[in-house]
Amino acid sequence: MRIAVVGLGRMGRAVVAEARQRGHDVVAAIGRDGNADGAALTREGLAGAEVVFEFTRPDAAPGNLARLARLGQRVVTGTTGWASELPAIARMVEESDGALLHAANFSIGMHLTRHAARILARLLRHLPDYDAAIRETHHRKKLDAPSGSALVLQADLREIDPSRPWPIASLRVGAVPGTHELVVDGPRESITLAHTVRDRAAFAEGALVAGEWLRTRSGVFTFDDVITGGTA
Ligand code: NAD
Repeated sequence: MRIAVVGLGRMGRAVVAEARQRGHDVVAAIGRDGNADGAALTREGLAGAEVVFEFTRPDAAPGNLARLARLGQRVVTGTTGWASELPAIARMVEESDGALLHAANFSIGMHLTRHAARILARLLRHLPDYDAAIRETHHRKKLDAPSGSALVLQADLREIDPSRPWPIASLRVGAVPGTHELVVDGPRESITLAHTVRDRAAFAEGALVAGEWLRTRSGVFTFDDVITGGTA
């Protein structure tokens, strides 16, 4: 697969490394220089990439994604913190017959954790003496808080039990790639459901799997569609 990577920070570099390991051809690698509002995202600049991977910053992602949508590109983005812009970007993607796959977390383990958390949330509906909260820990350079993954988890749990607040506590410390926990505490016992990423390669691998899946599709998707074998 011919791919382009937009954003060459921790995740962009991990995607380039993982792509090469999987035998893909990285035909364009676009950093911040010269790319204000997606200015470098032209047909020539993207050099015939079949799928573009976007991992930048909350303030840069909407401009990049709007530009890529207008070009009708297939795009996988993992950038977090721009959810309010999603409806407008999704409309542009549909209008241009492009494709966008967005996910706050590309690890398989987080997907499994969300399922396990939903089961706990259903059981907790009958246990008012038990409190539940989400705790997320990330490296000190992460720009958004709470994390996109914590917000997705919270939305999942609110759907199951809207009567609980499902609060989120965020901790920014050191070099942690990403840890999410559901903490349940009862009168005499506690449960912690924890997902810990040891290496960013876990996210990069998921993003590449998503890109391979998206290569022949049009429309707007999430990582759930890839894992559950959604069709389009
Ligand atoms: P980072 O700060 O290391 O890298 C971001 C890069 O984007 C920087 O190199 C910056 O120069 C570049 N950039 C900024 N504006 C740009 C522009 N207009 N065009 C091109 N590049 C631009 O951050 P990171 O750790 O690589 O994370 C990137 C994003 O991915 C964050 O939003 C983070 O929360 C998210 N993330 C998602 C997942 C997932 O699985 N979905 C996993 C980890 C991180």
